[in-house]
Amino acid sequence: MLPLEEHLYLPKDPKPVNKDKVQQLLKKEKEYYLTKTKKSKENFKTSTKTLPLGVPSTFQYWDPYPIAVKNAKGAYLTDLDGESYLDLSMGFGALQIGHTHPELIESIKSVLEDGLLYVSPSALASKAAQVITERFKIDQVRFTNSGTESIMYAIRTAKVFTQRDGLLKIEGGYHGGFDPSMVSAKPNLEEAGAPDCIKPVVAKGTTPGDVTPIPYNDLKYLSQVLELDPTRYAALLIEPIMENIGIVLPDENYLTELHMLLKRYGVLLIIDEIKTGYTAGPQGASALYGVTPDLITLAKSIGGGVTVGAFGGKKEIMEKITSNQASHYGTYNGNTLAMQAVITVDAILTPEILEQARQRNIRTLFQINALIENYQLPTHTVGFGSKGSVVWSPLRVRNYRDYKGIDFELAELNWLWNINRNIITPPGLDEQWLVSILHTDQDMQKLVDSFHSLAIELRSH
Ligand code: PMP
Repeated sequence: MLPLEEHLYLPKDPKPVNKDKVQQLLKKEKEYYLTKTKKSKENFKTSTKTLPLGVPSTFQYWDPYPIAVKNAKGAYLTDLDGESYLDLSMGFGALQIGHTHPELIESIKSVLEDGLLYVSPSALASKAAQVITERFKIDQVRFTNSGTESIMYAIRTAKVFTQRDGLLKIEGGYHGGFDPSMVSAKPNLEEAGAPDCIKPVVAKGTTPGDVTPIPYNDLKYLSQVLELDPTRYAALLIEPIMENIGIVLPDENYLTELHMLLKRYGVLLIIDEIKTGYTAGPQGASALYGVTPDLITLAKSIGGGVTVGAFGGKKEIMEKITSNQASHYGTYNGNTLAMQAVITVDAILTPEILEQARQRNIRTLFQINALIENYQLPTHTVGFGSKGSVVWSPLRVRNYRDYKGIDFELAELNWLWNINRNIITPPGLDEQWLVSILHTDQDMQKLVDSFHSLAIELRSH
């Protein structure tokens, strides 16, 4: 089983950072951002007329306006001002293969000439299904067009299979925009109840049905919830590693014991590997933790930037789709672009190549850990597979409530500091960097150097 210490580094002698200093630096960095992103600002002004917030998805927005991109290649993005940025967001973690991988581009071009949409079975779709079932050790799979859709159908299939309506989910976990999965996705703590009696927080305009949020890494809480209502729940929806609030690792044996507990009550385990997937390892995170989900959801890394998702699992559960008791439809499901991308990405992301990216990530984390120690910073690092994260708290984060205790001002400064030094990490302050297979040690050194310069500044008088 994976020992925690391999992935988590806590500071030995952290000292607080001067709050005024952080405020001053934030002000200075915000001013600097405005001077170097003039064309993005112009683009923002124009696009807000037709796009709310000037972005196609609210996650793409940041204050005062996001950088508008001209193109991307390898590990880099170029913005409208012609500035080149090291991309460590990599499509919110979708681009484990990097931008414009030549083999992916070639294979997609070859498909274009044979037509995009058959709405009929094809050899490509059969092959893509074979690839995913072999990789993730599941019996059957169906394709979708996004993570949100995969989640939606996995939940429906679980409800039909168990003939129950209740859904358990992890407080703070994000699983896309479907109504039930939006419950308590990063909720405001004022509405969320006490830690030992968590209240569901429902997003405006949604009708989620029967959803019960539970804390991550807490089997006792779960067993009380199950005992209270032993036949209520169809499934628990969970990320194996929480990757929408930094990187929150499971306690030792948490996932395997969780699965055993659920089985006792006939509750299915839906593991959401949309963020983990290939970024965690060649067969995702579940395999590494020795847990076999009843249903799994996939998207992001399996398509390498092409729009595709999938859900699948045990044959007896997927049989509900075969018999059309659980409906699953979609005009674009199995389109040739998506199917070819799944096949090519699988061929590119061999265990060996993923291991190289993981090693590169470990080297980066080690260097940052040394700086944390050197400058006695009140922060720590968490890494898993090809992903890493600096968490601005000296204490380990085990669940959403812990996460709310991190220093968000320092997190914002760290993020802005990187942007102003031409390194893009995801905008939400609670995501992580991704080392794609096209990132080099030299590329990752830029992140280390940026962190070093921030550490010097934070400790200067
Ligand atoms: N599940 C998880 C864990 C996610 O992080 C996301 C998106 N970030 C989704 C589901 C939804 O995926 P999509 O944005 O493709 O709908």
